[in-house]
Amino acid sequence: MGTLQKHFLAVACLLTLFALQAAAADRPQIKPGFNLFSRQQDVDLGRQAAAQTDRQLPIVRDAFLENYINRLGRRLASYSQAPDFPYTFKIVRDKNINAFALPGGPVYVNTGTIAAADNEAELAGVLAHEISHVALRHATNNASKAMLAQFPLAILGGMTRSGSALSQLARMGLGFGANSVLLKYSRDAERQADLQGARIMYDAGYNPDLMAVFFQKLEAKDRGGSIQFLSDHPNPGNRVQAVRQEEARLGPPKPWVNDTADFQQAKELVSSINQQSGPNRQSDSSRPAPR
Ligand SMILES: [Zn+2]
Repeated sequence: MGTLQKHFLAVACLLTLFALQAAAADRPQIKPGFNLFSRQQDVDLGRQAAAQTDRQLPIVRDAFLENYINRLGRRLASYSQAPDFPYTFKIVRDKNINAFALPGGPVYVNTGTIAAADNEAELAGVLAHEISHVALRHATNNASKAMLAQFPLAILGGMTRSGSALSQLARMGLGFGANSVLLKYSRDAERQADLQGARIMYDAGYNPDLMAVFFQKLEAKDRGGSIQFLSDHPNPGNRVQAVRQEEARLGPPKPWVNDTADFQQAKELVSSINQQSGPNRQSDSSRPAPR
């Protein structure tokens, strides 16, 4: 390599470095609230709750669908703030539009949600939002707030050290099953999940707008709180506007790939599953009954 080429390479490297630094500066780390749990406790709690959820909910067993949702979900999770959690993705046979995530990685999405999405980007938006709750550890932040409210002195006294947080949680009756109040998020948590979700969408090559557009579509369909997804993930206010503001900071539009043949095949499959499962039962929420 000639001297001139070496100089050119050095300048190109520097420019790339500056560009990366600028991108990082535009993206301040999203900081969720305090947490009394360790990351490993998030994973342990999620595994226990997922074992229970898998017994209670009708999980779709179809090689194509299982492979598709895991491929899509894991690719999205790799762009999150915490890509190292052991994420898993499962489809629940339920026409109601819902999705939820347990601490530490397990994510569930209903057949109804996939059927309601018009393209892969809309489904990716729901998954990116759920992944963000996991990555930002909103569930154990919720649990920490609940514990602090109930046992402030015990916590100040260090009762939660050495792994006893889990047993305390159980004593307080704060389970982490899919129906847990701990998975009903605050407006702050929703705002953060939208923000991080938009970043994931952008980095994965989807138009981040479509995440907000899908939520808007659901709101338009919602009749008196009939859509569980919206009651568990309330609009923090100006959802679409906030996502668009974040987009402006993310960078220029890319040649988005918002849909794939695999998504359309998945949508056809879940639609036939939904038809097989008969008329929608209103009381049949997408979550197991509270214990
Ligand atoms: Zn949410």
